[in-house]
Amino acid sequence: SDDEKCDVGLYGLAVMGQNFALNMASHGFKVCVGNRSSSKVDTTVQRAKNEGNVPVVGAKEIEEFIARLNKPRKVIILVQAGKPVDQTISKLSAFMEPGDIIIDGGNEWFPNSIRRAEDLTPKGIHFIGMGISGGEEGARNGPSLMPGGPKQAYDLLAPIFEKCAAQVSRTGPCVGYLGPIGSGNYVKTVHNGIEYGDMQLIAEVYDVMKTVLKMENEEIADQFAEWNKTELDSYLIEITEKCLRKKDDMTDGYVVDKILDKAGMKGTGRWTIQEAAERGVAAPTMAAALDTRLLSARKEERVAASKIFSSPSVDESIDQARVVEDLKAALYASKICSYAQGLSLIKAASDEFNWNVDLSECARLWMGGCIIRAKLLDSIQQAFSNDPDLDNLLVDAGLSKEIIDRTPAWRRTVALCTTSGIACPSLCGSLTYFDTYRRERLPASLTQAQRDFFGGHTYERIDMNGRFHTAWTDAH
Ligand code: NAP
Repeated sequence: SDDEKCDVGLYGLAVMGQNFALNMASHGFKVCVGNRSSSKVDTTVQRAKNEGNVPVVGAKEIEEFIARLNKPRKVIILVQAGKPVDQTISKLSAFMEPGDIIIDGGNEWFPNSIRRAEDLTPKGIHFIGMGISGGEEGARNGPSLMPGGPKQAYDLLAPIFEKCAAQVSRTGPCVGYLGPIGSGNYVKTVHNGIEYGDMQLIAEVYDVMKTVLKMENEEIADQFAEWNKTELDSYLIEITEKCLRKKDDMTDGYVVDKILDKAGMKGTGRWTIQEAAERGVAAPTMAAALDTRLLSARKEERVAASKIFSSPSVDESIDQARVVEDLKAALYASKICSYAQGLSLIKAASDEFNWNVDLSECARLWMGGCIIRAKLLDSIQQAFSNDPDLDNLLVDAGLSKEIIDRTPAWRRTVALCTTSGIACPSLCGSLTYFDTYRRERLPASLTQAQRDFFGGHTYERIDMNGRFHTAWTDAH
């Protein structure tokens, strides 16, 4: 009956909240829903009714919302990240008791979660920061869930989350304990950075097919469809095909050709790059994706510049089939490098904050439900479960071979882009990452010489221990 207490509460009923509430309810959990403006409570309860036998009850006042929950109370909040989360926590926690749990499912900057957990500690309320990926559809039918917080609190939620998360046949539900507070948000942030990189890599490959090879949208779509049956199999490749085939219903032609070429963003990609710099981790593939979105936004300036600078003429004798094969290889090798960067970043943060995040578990959580789900994650999960201390994904026995096989095609692709005047910053960022990482000796020796020259910063030697300084000029 309606008087029965609920298993879980969900506060914040925009796209994500409504869908996640219905997801939990359709797995048989009794869910109480609340929202700042009460109309969304009615909408959600109505949707639950329409979907049949989905146990959702609505509560319009915070006190009633909390009173309807079984103890220890479990409240998931899905409101706009930032200040609204603080306001919501403060209102909810006023009616909560020691042992109760608040889970923030938003895309949150991880230090905010750490601060909130500390603020709630005196009240004895446990706090979990949990990244959720998969958008609206994922939230409803099975997202990837990336929780970080107290383990005992997570264990009480695991039975719910394991049912509601995306299910992958070999590896199970796409949820698992990642580590202490902040770690879940961090993994979600890097997930989004990797998402930026993957999207940019696909855009660059599309650009070559469209601009250099002059392929039609349908031909390019066919190519992505074919690739999706190979090692490139992924959600983003799958939707790329669909994006390219969609006809415009307002005018003739394809939607993609009518869309203004200014890319938007909400912040998680930028956080990833800020964090990469902060942790001292190179992330050129993802950084290039961010840079490109930033430049794309300057449409008016680009239009003006295009009047001054022309594109180089494209070689007409190009072998289309071979270039397409090369693009496929370049895309896959570049993607491996991008994931290597993302996972190195998680590793660096995990070491810095003593989170002890298991990278194979990260890969496992990303195998279903989320935007970056991809066949490649099987190999990545495998690589880190074989060797949890693997320095870098690139040196895994299996993946290193995949890269070696693709290196010639990868270099030809970047060369073709360069001579054609097609920017390929993420393909090139990945190749550069590889070419830097794989070399025993780098020109950093000269950089050190310069630093010692102008700043007396000293240097180490390859043949003797200690720090050295050279009198670079004879002037004194
Ligand atoms: P949203 O647009 O980010 O936020 C809207 C919700 O926040 C509404 O329920 C709104 O309540 C509430 N809200 C705003 N300010 C508030 C305040 N001061 N106090 C209380 N409630 C407040 O919603 P969303 O798109 O569903 O996303 C929720 C979270 O999930 C965000 O952190 C988002 O980044 C993350 N996320 C979103 C997606 C996606 O595909 N949309 C995917 C993954 C993660 P009212 O109805 O009263 O205005």
